[in-house]
Amino acid sequence: MKVCKFGGTSVASAEQIQKVANIVKADPTRKIIVVSAPGKRFDGDVKVTDLLIRLATSALSGEDTTGALSHVVGRYASIAEELGLDSEIVSIIAADLSYRLAFSKDDPSLFFDQIKASGEDNSAKLIAAYFSSIGMPAEYINPKQAGLVVTDPPKRVQALPESYNNLSNLANQQSISIFPGFFGYTNDGTLRTFDRGGSDITGSILSAAVKAELYENFTDVDCVFAANPRVVENPVEIEKMTYREMRELSYAGFAVLHDEALMPAFKESVPVCIKNTNNPQSTGTMIVAERDYSRLPVTGISADSGFSTLYVSKYLMNREIGFGRKLLQILEDEHVSYEHIPSGIDNLSVIIRSHQLTPEKESRIVDRVQTELEVDDVHFISNFSMVVLVGEGMKYTTGLAARATDAIARTGANIEMINQGSSEVSLVFGVLKEDETKILKELYNEFFVPSLVV
Ligand code: ASP
Repeated sequence: MKVCKFGGTSVASAEQIQKVANIVKADPTRKIIVVSAPGKRFDGDVKVTDLLIRLATSALSGEDTTGALSHVVGRYASIAEELGLDSEIVSIIAADLSYRLAFSKDDPSLFFDQIKASGEDNSAKLIAAYFSSIGMPAEYINPKQAGLVVTDPPKRVQALPESYNNLSNLANQQSISIFPGFFGYTNDGTLRTFDRGGSDITGSILSAAVKAELYENFTDVDCVFAANPRVVENPVEIEKMTYREMRELSYAGFAVLHDEALMPAFKESVPVCIKNTNNPQSTGTMIVAERDYSRLPVTGISADSGFSTLYVSKYLMNREIGFGRKLLQILEDEHVSYEHIPSGIDNLSVIIRSHQLTPEKESRIVDRVQTELEVDDVHFISNFSMVVLVGEGMKYTTGLAARATDAIARTGANIEMINQGSSEVSLVFGVLKEDETKILKELYNEFFVPSLVV
């Protein structure tokens, strides 16, 4: 049995949903279908999830929601009409949205989740109705009834262990299960959404639960590329990579798959395949536990901006017992997580995703570090990018870091930080944001187009 997830662009219009039906029809083992909310149909279009966020925002601020509501219902109505469905499904969707809008607004985050989740929920209902109308036996699955139980915030929303057992029952369904992505329910029955892009996570959870032979993640690109095609012209296509490589690449900017979507599939050794709804014949990219990495040591190069560094220096820091713990405690008190901590003898840098910081938070952190840890210097530096070289083969290749730093030197940019993870599957360079693109291009040439390097 295969689990397939279809992303927003794959279900954005009637034409796209017809392609989905053809893909599912072509392989009878495609039995569990996870769907996103309708996404963008063209450049400049707005995803239904974003329309829903606008709708929830205006409802929370007490504005008239008629226009925003009819915008959302209109997206489904035009799809339904083009698919030749009768108006019943549109009435169901309109009633569902009105019901959700009447929910308590006391906790805005719960209200937001309710409204956002309707995007995938109604998409699943509509697609199940369409499949049935063309003679494909299909059933909409309600995640609450199916038992997708998740943790309660402030913890990250993640599937609880019992979900896997509950959801394994889907393997016995005769008809095709159409499952909405992106959300589950806490033990007390409260709806909670995953992060943006979280339908990938739902697909992975389901594929682990039913121990699928394959988790096919259908999107709008043929495969995963070795570097961002918007930066590098015609980058190499990755045929096969390991879970760890994909995890490292999606951590820093590879948006093809949500970075939390691999763990459930990985734990049950379910291979993942990235495929294109618009070109299903193409083989796609396989993500597996092991691959032959003798040919190319580097699999891909990613880059992401939006990092800040908390720089701390204190003479004899290395001898001070508990220094690191006390520093991290201050960050924990401010609800700030960290990415890397490269350190010297008397100094260290804590790399943080900048979206977690505000000027007030930064100054509270700096004040506390200064007074409680009696440091010589503490300050924040913002506008960093991380450029990450990823490849299982790097561990077995000597001179690789030298080649990478040489390539960066050729661009004239300075390396602010280097971090080689203990697994040696990635090599991370902290650089100034303005240098990110030229470094990515030069590293790509170094490792993938050697003929270009003089
Ligand atoms: N619709 C949600 C989003 O736009 C979830 C998803 O598509 O995976 O983030």
